Amino acid sequence: MISNRMKNLHPYVPGEQPKDRQYIKLNANENPYAPSEKVQQALLDFIKNNPMKLALYPDPDSLELHASIADMLNKTGGVLCNAHIDGESVEADEKDRIPFTVTPDMIYSGNGSDEVLSFVFYAFFDSDKRLVLPEFTYSFYPVYAGFYNIDTDIVPMKKDWSLDTEELLSRAEKNKSGLIFANPNAPSGIGLSRAQVREMLKKASPDRIFVVDEAYCDFGGESCIPLLAEFKNLLIVRTFSKSLCGAGMRLGYVVASPEIVNYITTVKNSLNHFPIDALAQVAGNAACKNPAYYCQCAKKVVEERESFQSFLKEKGWDFVSSKTNFVLARHPSVKGEDVYKKIKAEGILVRHFNTKGIEDYVRITIGTKEQMDALKAAIEKI
Ligand SMILES: *Cc1c(COP(=O)(O)O)cnc(C)c1O
Repeated sequence: MISNRMKNLHPYVPGEQPKDRQYIKLNANENPYAPSEKVQQALLDFIKNNPMKLALYPDPDSLELHASIADMLNKTGGVLCNAHIDGESVEADEKDRIPFTVTPDMIYSGNGSDEVLSFVFYAFFDSDKRLVLPEFTYSFYPVYAGFYNIDTDIVPMKKDWSLDTEELLSRAEKNKSGLIFANPNAPSGIGLSRAQVREMLKKASPDRIFVVDEAYCDFGGESCIPLLAEFKNLLIVRTFSKSLCGAGMRLGYVVASPEIVNYITTVKNSLNHFPIDALAQVAGNAACKNPAYYCQCAKKVVEERESFQSFLKEKGWDFVSSKTNFVLARHPSVKGEDVYKKIKAEGILVRHFNTKGIEDYVRITIGTKEQMDALKAAIEKI
């Protein structure tokens, strides 16, 4: 009954979303803070003042949202935790400043960056070329490769968990395929500098797409947005789900040349003309107009991350020093799965992957101070 295509589907397994018990959720890299009050108010106002708009189709091109996203990037440089806050306004730290203006026609938005990534795969990765992927990166990439019938060519990580950039490049050249990785990467939490990505781009073929997924960049990475001035094949994916406290809103976006944006729009218009509903457009728009709030949230997460890493060090745990809102860590003698179970027994969920090479570790999302204090207490018991 099923198509041959179906046999290639190996669906992504997300972090648990338990309904039975109130756990402290540190397993899906969600933000522990609610969206800003301005977002909440904008949604209430919209429903109260424009109920008819829910009966009509939304703007298929989310033009207002794209203008607000571009504006937020210009103000923050795409690294919220480093931006300087002055009342309601924010200014990018000098090292993050974008040396040109991001314009709305450089933005494409979709129903979560997962959907955006799916369209990117469709538009830019051919099924007759093996796609080069790092051994450990966002685990949705191999899922999409399966979905689109693309074989993968997996490059092992370096010993320190960083990407083997030389090997990625040489295999992409050999396979004549594009590249995709997360920066900072998951689940390692470490990233390449902008200078390192620039070196890669200089060596990569300008005729093939080069995708950098910046889902976690706002927590201390170096954004590659400034490199768009130099490289027309660069495509950056970002999301509202982590640093913009909006995983439930399902909003993700691309920053790239207008030409690349047009290709992805063509995919969208061939599949789902209206991927972002009217409420998500209103919420996303309001969020981008209140960057100061999200800068504060990102700064708090970074502060908790640093404190948590000091704690792990004190306790003799092994961890990868993170630039994101999660930490990959292992107990010196207790197995990863047992660490996960012991922490769960204390009412806290972290993520354990039953994958060779990473099974000793757990990935812990950084929560509020209260949540992290509870986690530290649970860890003390192990
Ligand atoms: C969380 C995550 C995404 C998915 O984000 P959504 O916008 O919620 O679909 C994409 N890429 C990476 C690397 C992520 O960690």
